Amino acid sequence: FAVHLVLSFFSKLQEDPTKKVDRFMYAMHLHDDQLSDISTRFQAEMKKGLSAESNAAAAVKMLPTHVHSTPDGSEKGHFLVLDLGGSKFKVLQVKVREGTGVRRGGVEMEEKTYPIPEELLTGSGKELFDHVSESLKDFLHEKKISVEKKHPLALTFSFPCEQSALNQGLLLNWSKNFRARGVQGKDVVQALRGAVNRTGGMDVEVLAMVNDTVATMMTCGFDDRYCEVGLIVGSGTNACYMEELHHIDLVEGDEGRMCVNTEWGAFGDDGALNDYITEFDREVDAASNNPGKQILEKMVSGMYLGELVRLVVLKMAKLGLLFEGQVSDALRTKGKITTAHVAAMEEYKHGLRNTRNILVDLDLSSTPDDCIAVQRVSTIVSFRSSNLVAAGLAAILTQIRQNRHLRTLRITVGVDGTVYKTHPRYANRLHKVVQRLIPECHVRFVLSDGGSSKGAALVTAVAQRLASQRRQ
Ligand code: BGC
Ligand code: MG
Repeated sequence: FAVHLVLSFFSKLQEDPTKKVDRFMYAMHLHDDQLSDISTRFQAEMKKGLSAESNAAAAVKMLPTHVHSTPDGSEKGHFLVLDLGGSKFKVLQVKVREGTGVRRGGVEMEEKTYPIPEELLTGSGKELFDHVSESLKDFLHEKKISVEKKHPLALTFSFPCEQSALNQGLLLNWSKNFRARGVQGKDVVQALRGAVNRTGGMDVEVLAMVNDTVATMMTCGFDDRYCEVGLIVGSGTNACYMEELHHIDLVEGDEGRMCVNTEWGAFGDDGALNDYITEFDREVDAASNNPGKQILEKMVSGMYLGELVRLVVLKMAKLGLLFEGQVSDALRTKGKITTAHVAAMEEYKHGLRNTRNILVDLDLSSTPDDCIAVQRVSTIVSFRSSNLVAAGLAAILTQIRQNRHLRTLRITVGVDGTVYKTHPRYANRLHKVVQRLIPECHVRFVLSDGGSSKGAALVTAVAQRLASQRRQ
């Protein structure tokens, strides 16, 4: 017995600390066959959202955007852009120059970030839009932009909106950390116009409202005509793509295409992901602003990754699997581990050192094995995120390939979002998994340069051109 005890003691000492984490978190490790299953389920959800009979009950809303084409290089003009709902609120002036002959047009941008005070996220919608409009006025003043003449304006609004036209959209629900009162079910463009009138002293015409995924697709589409998908992995997550109009029941007409904002963050809201949800996902959901909503988003996006890691580490510590069972107040506190921490823990060179420092900041004394284990937790949580995004993308790309009756599809995905951009390993993992899941598609990922604002100006440029053609 004594020999056995000694042996097991030594084998425990020698065990690779990542092993116990892998055992503890096996449910977050998704194999390729599970990812294919998720992908198939998502494609079914897409069809449900597109069809007139099932749309009302569908979790994945598949919202028509009234954007009919990606840029063709003939876009031009000067535009103001408001970008609300990403990790930062920005006001911009975007100047689009038309391409000549083989030369692509160019885009110049000036931008300023305006902080949004915490209480405005949860206050009245009126106060929120007044703040937006005051910031616009400040921007015009600071950049010495004439208030004498009328300025076309585009709004990038990163929330689900039901649009019956490009310059109109009812907010279906808030997501992420926004929940201002009195906006849900209202036309956001009207709300903005109202605020601009209250602020006074500006002459702007709101010509278009676009989701950030759509703007991202358009931004990348300006340089790459194969870009027909937009993807965001930031505080929230979502994707859009060019769908055949005859598949979009909610919009009349059968010819041509329209960009559809999938709102895939809501995948799982009807239970479609229940087989894959862990106790930690349930906890994150229960403690969120919008319990039961945005289930996929809570497994994937930047607002929640850190929290997932914290909950796993906390549980492991309580069970005595980490820090010799020690738990600190900081570790018990919501929000103490952020996505920035998760990214730092996975840095190539300094990941372990970063992990140790993060644990010190959480008042936890850790052994080298504890650090390795916690780093592993981060890896599994963020790997699952990129895996789920890959499964969603695989469904979208398969849908496009089938639409076009192609055996192989060549396509570009325009991407933006803090997680994709700042996590040192995220992009690479995502690309690899997509390639594995759908080898018949040749996918290029392009980081959107100018993010979700440039594309909004491009959409507006097209809208303006069409409007003036109609007037002629
Ligand atoms: C919103 C989407 C948005 C995504 C990325 C989600 O929470 O519902 O409209 O595209 O976040 O910002
Ligand atoms: Mg149709």
